[in-house]
Amino acid sequence: MIYRYAAIGLVALLSLTGAARAADCPAGTLGTSRTVVIDPAKVHRVGGGPDYGTPILEDREVILTFDDGPIPPWTGKVLDALAAECVHATFFTVGTMARAHPALLKRVLAEGHTVGTHSERHAHIPKLPYKAAVKEILDGFATAGKSLGDQAAVAPFFRFPYLESTRATETYAAAMGIVIWNIDFHASDWMFLTPEVLAQRAIERIEQKKRGILLLHDIHQRTALALPVILRELKSRGYKVVHAVPTPGAHVNFEVAAKIDPWAAKAAPLRSSRAKPSPTFDGGPVEDWAGQR
Ligand SMILES: [Zn+2]
Repeated sequence: MIYRYAAIGLVALLSLTGAARAADCPAGTLGTSRTVVIDPAKVHRVGGGPDYGTPILEDREVILTFDDGPIPPWTGKVLDALAAECVHATFFTVGTMARAHPALLKRVLAEGHTVGTHSERHAHIPKLPYKAAVKEILDGFATAGKSLGDQAAVAPFFRFPYLESTRATETYAAAMGIVIWNIDFHASDWMFLTPEVLAQRAIERIEQKKRGILLLHDIHQRTALALPVILRELKSRGYKVVHAVPTPGAHVNFEVAAKIDPWAAKAAPLRSSRAKPSPTFDGGPVEDWAGQR
């Protein structure tokens, strides 16, 4: 019951728009059914449980997210597949990748997708000293902004590498106006699966929960090849794709970040009801960065 009231409260904090982008899409495409606007001043976490992201979605609604890029040619192939079905996604870019491939990140933004971040070097943040951990987060946002040539174009959306966070870094992120993104399902696409198996796993897991945030990685050929199949299956099964964006003008507050007392952040209570996201999901590691090289 507590969860139920929490869910209702969270929905009230969100501004839901019925922007019918699908109306602008070619006939027969999946299309983005609506845009959900997330206010970082009120919502600090989405995804990963009944009290997080699920309330922002209705049954048979999915948010598509892509981590670890951009990298040619696969990010481009992913963008092609998204464009072919007229859907929009959120990309959680790694700083080193954004710096290496700025034109590709600019294309992500130009095609209407949301650009969030996934740290500067895809580090295991809990293994870093506090100051290095917050620098890892902050540098990821700064690098994405430099690569785009527009810091304001970077959404204050962040996904911890491996979904590994700490109390201190979560507190820091909230103070900076960052929304932490978890996941509801994935396709095990960091494993050496065929595109067919990868697509099948994604659809099976989506069907189990019916709604949520899908984690994929735009750095793999197999993911780029599987994506058209996943989108086709979503369409045939009556699913809708929702696009998440931050409140207009919302951005990472670098001025506040510089003033945060690290010792106070370490001691502060968590804002969320969960201590931290589980480093594992469905019994296994969420990502294997070494396996992505
Ligand atoms: Zn990652």
